[in-house]
Amino acid sequence: MKTIKPAILFLILLSTVLFVSCDKNGNFLLFSVQNDIDLGAQVADEIASDPTQFPILPRINTTNCPHCFDAYAYLDNMVDAILSSQDVAYRNEFAWEVHLIDNDEILNAFATPGGYIYVYTGLIKFLEQADDLAGVLGHEIAHADQRHSSKQLQRQYGVSILLSIILGEEPGQLTEVAGTLAGTLGTLSFSRSLESEADEYSVIYLSETDYACNGAFSFFQKLIDLEQTGGTPEFLSTHPDPSTRVEAINEKASEIGCSTEVISESSPTYDNFRFDLLPD
Ligand SMILES: [Zn+2]
Repeated sequence: MKTIKPAILFLILLSTVLFVSCDKNGNFLLFSVQNDIDLGAQVADEIASDPTQFPILPRINTTNCPHCFDAYAYLDNMVDAILSSQDVAYRNEFAWEVHLIDNDEILNAFATPGGYIYVYTGLIKFLEQADDLAGVLGHEIAHADQRHSSKQLQRQYGVSILLSIILGEEPGQLTEVAGTLAGTLGTLSFSRSLESEADEYSVIYLSETDYACNGAFSFFQKLIDLEQTGGTPEFLSTHPDPSTRVEAINEKASEIGCSTEVISESSPTYDNFRFDLLPD
């Protein structure tokens, strides 16, 4: 800060505000799209460097995961179908890398800024239909594409820290934020309005695929059923009020008139994927 005069700082800030800091809906956002991309890559590095907390399955076949290559091929195919939606704004800019975390006990998925998506094997084994998983992936893709983490960070860290990251004054700070984010993403709560937005975009994205556009509905419905039998899935702690969301998802589906018919798959099917391709 010592070498930057206030007037110049003001100009930089102004240019940031004018050119790179509004999302598609015109909301003020200090982080640029490039900041999202850089932060996402850092967070992905942090996650990859912590295999104890995040035992990520490899993209190649190994002794422990003899069908990992095909498992990822199935998952990538689903992600690509969702990303082909015209409504994914940063389809070409973000990384859109999906990773499987090998933990059958955890029913969760999360996304970093810049499009790194993480799905626990526990969630996949819990979901019975491809459409349900597509619904969750659509929801997570929306969190990244709508830049919800950046909005959350802005609220959490305040403008001055983010500004010093943007100005490159303290290079260590991006790593620090990335580290914190890596540790908290799975438990990061977005505001109710951001959650509804992610649910709605899930329906919009899936409406352009062969998957039932309300796939996220049956996912939440399953969570409600599980909760009633005494289970507490991680996803519900960060995604409250599932019954209202089920209604809102179905309302969105009827509003845009998209197909809610469950997809019919040829081999490999979703059941092949979760029972044969993923490790036990
Ligand atoms: Zn969410």
